[in-house]
Amino acid sequence: MQAAILNDLTKCIGCGACAAACKQINNLPKGKARKLDADTWTFVDYRENTFIRRMCMHCLEPTCASVCPVGALRKTDIGAVTYDASRCIGCRYCVMACPFDIPKYQWSKTLPITQKCVMCFEKRLKKGEQPACTSVCPTGATLFGDRDALIGEARRRIRENPDRYVPHIYGLHEAGGTSVLYLSGVPFEKLGFKAQVRDEAYPELTWAALSKVPHILSFGAAFLFGVSWVINRRMQLAAAGNNREEQETAGSEEESNRPVVSRRSPPFPVAPEGGESQ
Ligand code: SF4
Ligand code: SF4
Ligand code: SF4
Repeated sequence: MQAAILNDLTKCIGCGACAAACKQINNLPKGKARKLDADTWTFVDYRENTFIRRMCMHCLEPTCASVCPVGALRKTDIGAVTYDASRCIGCRYCVMACPFDIPKYQWSKTLPITQKCVMCFEKRLKKGEQPACTSVCPTGATLFGDRDALIGEARRRIRENPDRYVPHIYGLHEAGGTSVLYLSGVPFEKLGFKAQVRDEAYPELTWAALSKVPHILSFGAAFLFGVSWVINRRMQLAAAGNNREEQETAGSEEESNRPVVSRRSPPFPVAPEGGESQ
C-alpha cells in the first residue's frame, strides 16, 4: 500500500481538530498558528471562503530528501517522508529545495534543525494506525488511505458533483505526484497553492543540475559530515568536562564543608532522620 491523505476542502469546517491533534501527538507547544513553523506542522488557513489545511505534501520523489547531505529525510516504502532530527545538521538545503515551502527552521534555537510533518510514521503508521490528524476530523474532510483508492474516490466525487469541485486533483501530478492530495471548489491558485509547481519530479531537475558539479557535491557532503561530527564531538567533550568539573567542585565543596559543619552547631533546627523540622 502507498499511504496517502486526501484533503477535501469542500468538507472542511475549520474546527482545527487536526492541527490540535498534531500538536498533541508530537508534543509541540499548543496554540493556534496562522502559518507553518518549526512548532506547527499543520494548520488551517482561510481564503476565498474556504478552509485549507496546510501540511507537507509527502512527495513521491521528495526533493528535500534528495538534497539532504546526511540522509535526515527519507521516503519510506509506505509513502511517508520521514525526518530524523538526530541526523539533521541544520544546513537548510531542504528548506531551500522544497517546491512547496514546507520544512521550517528553528530560528530561535541555539542549535537549530528543521521540522515538518512526518505523517505520524513512527508514532502511528508503524503500529497500523492512521495519522492523529485524520483520525479526529469530524467531517471526513481529511482522509487517510491507499493512494490509488483515494485518487479513485476523488475522481468519483468530481464526476458525481461537477458543480461542487474544480476538475483537478492537486497532487496527482504536481512535483511528480504527492502522497497528500487535495480537492477544492475554488481554483487552487486562488487558495495559495503554487501554480508554478511543475509536473516533473524535482529531484530529477535538481540532479540534472548537480550532476554537472559532482566533485563539489561529494566534497560538500563529506565536509558537512565532518562538520557535524566535530560539532557533536565537541558537545560531548564539553558535556563530559562540565560533569567532571561539577563532580570536582561538589567534591571539594564537600571536603571544605565537612570540618566546618562538624565543628559548629547547625544554624537551623535539623529534622531527625525520617522526621520533619519543627
Ligand atoms: S513537500 Fe517539501 S518537505 Fe514535503 S516531502 Fe515534498 S519536498 Fe519534502
Ligand atoms: S500526519 Fe501526523 S505529523 Fe503530519 S500533520 Fe498529521 S498529525 Fe501532524
Ligand atoms: S479536523 Fe477536519 S474539518 Fe476540522 S479543520 Fe481539520 S480538516 Fe477541517
